[in-house]
Amino acid sequence: MFNFFEEYQEILYNCEKPSRYTGGEFLSAEKDFDKSDVRFLLAFPDKYEIGISNFGHKILYHVINSKENFMADRVYAPENDFKDLLKANNKLLYGLDSKRSVKDFDLVAFGLQYELAYTTVLAMLEMSDIPVYSKDRTDDDPVIMAGGPCVFNPNPMIDFIDLFSIGDGEEVLIEVCNKYNELKGQSRDKILEELSKIEGIYCPKYSKTVTKRVAELKLENHPTTSPIPHFASVQDRAVIEIRRGCARLCRFCQSAHTNLPVRERDKEEVIKIAKEYVKNTGYDEYSLLSLSSNDHKDIEEILEKLNCDFKDKGVNVSLPSQRADKFSLKLANLAGEVKKATITLAPEAGSQRMRDIINKGLTQEQIVNAILASVKNGWSKIKLYFMIGLPNETMEDLKLMIELLEFINETCRQNGLKLPRITCSTSIFVPKPHTPFQWCAQNSLAETDKKIDFLKENSRHLKNIKINIHNKKLSQIEAFLTRGDKKLCDFIYKMYKKGGYLQSWDENVDFEDWANTAKSLGLDIEELATKQYKLDEELPWDFIDCKLPEDFLKNSYRKAMSI
Ligand code: SF4
Repeated sequence: MFNFFEEYQEILYNCEKPSRYTGGEFLSAEKDFDKSDVRFLLAFPDKYEIGISNFGHKILYHVINSKENFMADRVYAPENDFKDLLKANNKLLYGLDSKRSVKDFDLVAFGLQYELAYTTVLAMLEMSDIPVYSKDRTDDDPVIMAGGPCVFNPNPMIDFIDLFSIGDGEEVLIEVCNKYNELKGQSRDKILEELSKIEGIYCPKYSKTVTKRVAELKLENHPTTSPIPHFASVQDRAVIEIRRGCARLCRFCQSAHTNLPVRERDKEEVIKIAKEYVKNTGYDEYSLLSLSSNDHKDIEEILEKLNCDFKDKGVNVSLPSQRADKFSLKLANLAGEVKKATITLAPEAGSQRMRDIINKGLTQEQIVNAILASVKNGWSKIKLYFMIGLPNETMEDLKLMIELLEFINETCRQNGLKLPRITCSTSIFVPKPHTPFQWCAQNSLAETDKKIDFLKENSRHLKNIKINIHNKKLSQIEAFLTRGDKKLCDFIYKMYKKGGYLQSWDENVDFEDWANTAKSLGLDIEELATKQYKLDEELPWDFIDCKLPEDFLKNSYRKAMSI
């Protein structure tokens, strides 16, 4: 009889943090693999600590396991040491709950959160002895699926994935399981062909176009338990989704444009879920998840009611960033009743002109007033999100960003306040598919360098302010991959063959390697990242219908360019 700990003893004994690979966490599902009609594996192509905290992963695990005859298991990308040990000991990757090989499952679905995870998907297939190319798989291999934000342009992974789930996954995956259950035993081709008829499923072999799937936010689909890792993960808290989508539609924001229509969870439902989740898990923190939390119409009432219950128990709430134009001190106070954490705001751009171009709809007054009110009321740490390299940005816009920061300090001083510690988390614009800026060029590395130097040089005197800037080379690779066409499959394959693994981690990524590999295939990372598409040009991801009104993106783009 198979004994997992005997079989994998050598590997578990010699790897770092074996508890990443043993499963059996408190509240993990205990479904019987052999008695389940459909065995579904949720595969996360990043480290355990990241994957187990991912909210989409938790929803799907809950939704599938709540069906009596289906089981969902999980697998995360092992660290390099464990990966090497698997190979050296001739062992296969397995699901954490069932300890069954990935290859034994009926369906395996990868959650693609960021493009740099693509090579990890291929490496995980290899660790599972599953052919990396879809065309090489046989009836004995599982159906390989992918979902998540990256699949709104699936082209770079189209040779490797059998089915893409475009849009919300919770309802479509149950339909996939039901259909698969009916078709079990038929040929792989027949199964793929039938599954490709489900709305929201794109099968490279059988589909020409696809319309994204939109799910309702149903109470029964929200988890109130989830596996609690044996050690700290990136988000040790209960997460309650209060809203999906964001109607603000900032022009660079892919999440907003691909998650329409906005759906809001009823306040009583939010409260019920939060109480149950905290009770079941014992977490001392919960987070109210949404793209823009203070846009929920009952957010203050929800927090008031939850505070009544949680305050004496020492349960904190964490809120994602507030909109400065709807900044509510009452809300900040409610969120900070147990512990005053950091106030987070997202001006995105320093000048009014740029904020208008990106459709941010925020004035300098609103930003400064929100910060001033926070500092007056005891917050000493402020986090501001900015983005540089936005379309039509000039050095004057960056100068105005510095002036905004100076003005914040000056206003605090005039009000007799101690200067807060301000961290500016600054990302580099990446033109994302299905946004009004999908046609726009990213700045070249030389242009970005100039802008970073300018910001660093001109902010030196602001001792209380730290400007952190995202890795410019990784942002360029991200732009290259997110705008890519099918030609990029050869590139992804070559990078995987060269050992590209867990590439979103700085210690693993070698930009020169990416650039040289692209060159060897006649591709140029900077050329594609900085390409300005024409408005009437066909885009590689045009076959995906995001249910936006015709010409909506074009009109929004034109409006931005006219400012
Ligand atoms: S407010 Fe935030 S989530 Fe909403 S569209 Fe703008 S950037 Fe996206």
